[in-house]
Amino acid sequence: MKDSINVLISENDLQKRIKELAEEIKKDYEGEEVVFVSVLKGAVFFTVDLMKNYDGDCMIDVVRVSSYVGENSTGKIELKIPLKKEHIENKNIIIVEDIVDTGRTFNYLVKYVNEMHPKSVKSCVMLDKPSRRVEEFNPDYTGFQVEDLFVVGYGLDYDEKYRNLPYIGYIKN
Ligand code: 5GP
Repeated sequence: MKDSINVLISENDLQKRIKELAEEIKKDYEGEEVVFVSVLKGAVFFTVDLMKNYDGDCMIDVVRVSSYVGENSTGKIELKIPLKKEHIENKNIIIVEDIVDTGRTFNYLVKYVNEMHPKSVKSCVMLDKPSRRVEEFNPDYTGFQVEDLFVVGYGLDYDEKYRNLPYIGYIKN
């Protein structure tokens, strides 16, 4: 049977907020080049729209980690696609993620990127679920804060489904 999805953040609200985030980042990096490091696979949609709205010098790179099985986090982070040191060293890095939940993935990634001696590192997330934090982590740029719901759409999946939804929703039980 097909799951029924409730809309939490509409496509319109998402796109409006992404434009604001891109403008905010642009102001902070005036005259500097930035590298958006997109965390595969979930952050792909967000990264693309963020970059399309970013009116400044920028590049894209990708990294892939995994930490989730179904709805339950295993707590273990595995690096599946690494970054190349020459793409990070001495650059302004913005790690772009779909959602911060426990905070484990971001803390892992910030540490990992810092080992490659960037010029600076910041974090940008589409969604933040602060009530679920296990490790302390405060993103530099946040799209929306959400309550403790398992959300899907706009890159976020449930067992690889629903990434293609243009909005953020949650599965109605
Ligand atoms: P953290 O390491 O902060 O616990 O988890 C980050 C990762 O968990 C995200 O990149 C995402 O893949 C997954 N995740 C956390 N909450 C949700 C959620 O509500 N929906 C989906 N689809 N994935 C989530």
